[in-house]
Amino acid sequence: MHCPFCGAQDTRVTDSRLVAEGDQVRRRRQCAQCHERFTTYETAELVMPRVVKSDGSRETFDEAKLRAGMLRALEKRPVSAEAIEAAVERIRQTLRARGEREVNAREIGEAVMRALRTLDQVAYIRFASVYRKFQDLDEFRAEIDRLAKEPESDAATGAASRATPEEGSAS
Ligand SMILES: [Zn+2]
Repeated sequence: MHCPFCGAQDTRVTDSRLVAEGDQVRRRRQCAQCHERFTTYETAELVMPRVVKSDGSRETFDEAKLRAGMLRALEKRPVSAEAIEAAVERIRQTLRARGEREVNAREIGEAVMRALRTLDQVAYIRFASVYRKFQDLDEFRAEIDRLAKEPESDAATGAASRATPEEGSAS
């Protein structure tokens, strides 16, 4: 970083400490040329992208809304609060890691569906049926079939796929 006094490129860090409860690094620097001292603050850029809705309007990412949607789908399902929180955090990190300033609401919905599918298949179907607004029963059944046939990465859900009775009966 250039010296703000003389523009020299060679500055030396004389002290470095965490501030703001560890969210910032404060560095004291000294210019090798003019020997002036100055301070820099380093903060990770943790800004969530803005959400672009299907009608083109933008809104602030709302974690509470995301969680509420997942909880509604997971109502009375055997999934721990801890597992839900971990899933919410993963979605947040995924969105943030994209480094984009905006994200389509649809992509958030897809991320939620992926998360629910590994947490609980009933919750996934609940969410998907509302989110995708299945037009009719055939479409809904096709989704169930797709889910049953898809190879599972998680061995624990294998039993659930085998238990689906609909296989082969769709006309
Ligand atoms: Zn200088």
